[in-house]
Amino acid sequence: MMRTTFLLLAAVCAFAQAPFGLAIHGGAGNVTAARIGPEAEKAYRAGLEKALAAGYAVLEKGGPALDAVEAAVRSMEENPLFNAGVGATLTRDGTHELDAAIMDGRTLKAGAVAGVMHVKSPIGLARLVMERTPHVMLIGEGAEAFARAQGLEPVPNAFFRTPGQWESFRKLKEREKARPTTKDTVGAVALDRHGNLASATSTGGMLDKLPGRVGDAPLIGVGTYADNRTCAVSCTGWGEFFIRTVVAYDISARMAYRGAPLEKAAAAALDAALKLGGEGGLVAMDAAGRVTQPFNTPGMFRGLRMSDGRSSVALFGNP
Ligand code: ASP
Repeated sequence: MMRTTFLLLAAVCAFAQAPFGLAIHGGAGNVTAARIGPEAEKAYRAGLEKALAAGYAVLEKGGPALDAVEAAVRSMEENPLFNAGVGATLTRDGTHELDAAIMDGRTLKAGAVAGVMHVKSPIGLARLVMERTPHVMLIGEGAEAFARAQGLEPVPNAFFRTPGQWESFRKLKEREKARPTTKDTVGAVALDRHGNLASATSTGGMLDKLPGRVGDAPLIGVGTYADNRTCAVSCTGWGEFFIRTVVAYDISARMAYRGAPLEKAAAAALDAALKLGGEGGLVAMDAAGRVTQPFNTPGMFRGLRMSDGRSSVALFGNP
């Protein structure tokens, strides 16, 4: 009898335990099923599944949310389909300049890099900035020097080039009036078994950006933010509009000051940015494991895997 009661109690406790898991995005943009075709759709889905599996494996073992978001983002940096790491988009000069940021919701520690051109995993370098320097952000040459000092092997800038991105760049140059376009930035938010949140974002930025331009992704509180007391956020879209309304921190602040629930806070903050113009979306998670993935573009590559069984991968359609 006592044994049964104990087992029952243990089962109830396990069930009542806060869920853990992660949510990711692979960028918001003008993507529809017709535009990308079935082959690419399959490949994007597989890429998102792989990133989810990489992050979830960490969490399942009891690892920290910080490791999970880094693992998920690294997986997408290595995947040439996404605009981060290999497959990064091109600047107006035909070069690749990469931005990334990571944040720990438990300690509010953060690390970021911007404009790096020879670092294989910008998110890995952002993590090193967070853990091995007294700073939050390193840019350009200084960031490259720090990477070398940390023993990271530099790669040539062409390492990031893919035929697909080169084609987009070439086509854009043919057109009279180019407009910056968003493309396949990657990001992840996670909640671990210990109740800690983390967030990470990595990107090549906007196609045709001016060399030296920095987007929202590496800016703490804009494209990336995490605070255990509120939420973890990773944004994607036309960065300039996100910067002007400080989207990620706005979500956290709405939750902290107004007691707004995650979904409402995220929708309102995103709306404020998109009212100025531009386009985009985000993924966000709160400390109870609630997730929201709003966007105003025809599609946003996104996925979710939670310990309570919620699991999805989607590319198009309504948030
Ligand atoms: N937000 C990124 C930037 O502005 C681009 C993107 O998400 O596609 O650099």
